[in-house]
Amino acid sequence: MLRAIRYSMTERICTIRRSSVALRLLIVLLACIFFAGNLPAVWLPPAIAAERPLDSQLKRRKMVASQLKSRGISNPLVLRAMATVPRHLFVSSHLRQLAYIDGPLPIGHGQTISQPYIVAYMTEILHIKQQDKVLEIGTGSGYQAAVLAELTERVYTMEIVPELADTAAERLKEMGCGSVNVRQGDGYHGWPKAAPFDAIMVTAAAEFIPPPLLKQLKEGGRMIIPVGSPFNVQHLMMVEKKEGKITTRSLMLVRFVPFRRSQ
Ligand code: SAH
Repeated sequence: MLRAIRYSMTERICTIRRSSVALRLLIVLLACIFFAGNLPAVWLPPAIAAERPLDSQLKRRKMVASQLKSRGISNPLVLRAMATVPRHLFVSSHLRQLAYIDGPLPIGHGQTISQPYIVAYMTEILHIKQQDKVLEIGTGSGYQAAVLAELTERVYTMEIVPELADTAAERLKEMGCGSVNVRQGDGYHGWPKAAPFDAIMVTAAAEFIPPPLLKQLKEGGRMIIPVGSPFNVQHLMMVEKKEGKITTRSLMLVRFVPFRRSQ
C-alpha cells in the first residue's frame, strides 16, 4: 500500500499539475505519506525507506536553492519545474542517491543526463510560453523533455539511440507525461511533419547548426545548441530567427556529448 501510494505520487508528474481532481487526491495522498513518513524507521524496509518521495522532494528543493537560484535562474515556472520533476527516476537505481548532485550522470550507451543547472539554464533562456511548440534533439533519459512538459503540452523530442528512445518514451508515459511526443531517429533532419517550432533545444554538441533545424524554426523562434568539436569545449549558442534572418551569439562554454549522425 505504502509503495503504491509513493509510486503514484512520484511518477505521475505531468498530470498532477493539470487536474483539480488529481490535486484533491494529491492532498489526501500527501497527508497519508506525511504520516507514513513520520513512522519510526523500523516500519519501513530499507529499500523503500531509501526512496521516500519526501526525501527526494527535499533534495530537489536544496538543488533549486543551491545550484539554480544562486546562479541566477529566476523564472518561477522553470524553478517550479525543476522542483517538481523527479530527476532520480531518470537514472538507473544504483545512481539514484547521486541524482541531485551538481553535475551530469551517465545514462548508458555512453550518454549523460545534463547537470541540473544546464537543464534549467537552457529551459529558461528559451522563454517558453504555454502554447509554444518545442522540439528537443537528444531525448536521452527523457528528463529534459519532462522539464519542458511542465511548461507546455506541445513537446516533441528525438533520440538517435533506439534503446534510449524506447526507455524514455515508456518512462514519460508511466509518469503521466504522455503528451510528450518521442521519436527515434537522427535529429539532424528535425521533425518536418510537426514543424514549425517556437523553440528548439539541442542537447548534443554539433559541429555546425543543422540547416533543417533552422528551416523548422518559426519566425521569431529561438534555438539553443552547443556548437563545436566533440573533443573540446563548445559554445552554447543562442540562435534567433527574425524577419527571416538568423542571428547567433555565444552564451557560455560547455561540454556536451557529441551530436551523432545515422549511417
Ligand atoms: N537531454 C537528455 C540528455 C542528452 S545527452 C536528458 O535529459 O537526459 C545527448 C543525447 O543526444 C544522447 O542521448 C544522444 O544519443 C542523443 N543524440 C546525439 N546525436 C543525436 C541525433 N543526431 N539525433 C537525436 N539524438 C541524438
